[in-house]
Amino acid sequence: MKLSYYALIVLQLFVMVFASPSAAKSPQKASIQAIIDQAYHKYKSDNSGKNADYIPALAKVDSSYFGLALVTTDGKVYTKGDINQAFSIQSISKVFTLSLAMEQQGQQVILDKVGVNATGLPFNSVTAIELNTARSVNPLVNAGAIATVSLLDGNGKTKWSTLSSWYDQFANRKLSVLKDVYQSESDTNGHNRAIAELLTSYNRFYGDVDLNLDIYTRQCSVAVNAKDLAIMASVFANNGIHPITNKRLMKSNNVSRVLAVMSTAGLYENSGQWAYQVGLPAKSGVGGGIIAVAPGEFSIAVFSPRLDQAGNSIRAQKAIDYIAEQLNSNIF
Ligand code: GLU
Repeated sequence: MKLSYYALIVLQLFVMVFASPSAAKSPQKASIQAIIDQAYHKYKSDNSGKNADYIPALAKVDSSYFGLALVTTDGKVYTKGDINQAFSIQSISKVFTLSLAMEQQGQQVILDKVGVNATGLPFNSVTAIELNTARSVNPLVNAGAIATVSLLDGNGKTKWSTLSSWYDQFANRKLSVLKDVYQSESDTNGHNRAIAELLTSYNRFYGDVDLNLDIYTRQCSVAVNAKDLAIMASVFANNGIHPITNKRLMKSNNVSRVLAVMSTAGLYENSGQWAYQVGLPAKSGVGGGIIAVAPGEFSIAVFSPRLDQAGNSIRAQKAIDYIAEQLNSNIF
């Protein structure tokens, strides 16, 4: 009788340790690396899509690059492929600028002065501004992103130095600007200028067009590699505390707002499809990077320059979809 009582306790302990949902959701170190390796090999020879070319410097990037990184909320880093290759952060910058604007100005200002509804239209849409009578755009597409820069504190010089050091704190190293990309986009960004002027005409832009457009162009040209991006995104996965430096960068209730906007608008007009298929807040950039966040668990970043019609990296979407599925991390 006594023996079976102890046997029951041992059995209960076994079930608690090995069969609880959290044990099922925390794969061991070896399996995370194996899953990343599998994703790399599965999609390495996928040559579909093509580099962005509306910014001439992006068309020249070697389209065979493929780099993957995953960072857990306890600060472990897993990588595979072209992990040290620098590329321009492009639209992924928008989530970090939104984060700074929210920390500086508060959530209500973003809601009132920019808007957070998905536009359902391409990233550089002018129509989105015209169709919405409140002129409400979204911080993760060009119109709202340039307006968000205009909301940041500071004059020309201090605004850029505050913003770039904000990015550095997320990356946990000093980042630089890819001069050729910055020059190339500065020479060809008439479309973004038109967007900023149009917003100004509706009183939905909050500073000088030239100055804020220049800062926006600079932020899009920041050089990162896939590992940097995964480290940057890990702050969102860890609720605002940097998993490597242990420093709190954001209020936790600002992190949940940023993740909400990523869930609804992070992959441009394909955001609904992404949420349906993958179920992780994410953000892509036309440089070929995508970040995705599994709150409380990990962040992933993948770099591969060939894009689909909407401007999202094809291999990065497939690799993240595979990794998220294997790690059972769909938040819905
Ligand atoms: N710098 C790019 C632009 O403004 C960013 C676009 C993107 O990555 O979606 O067009």
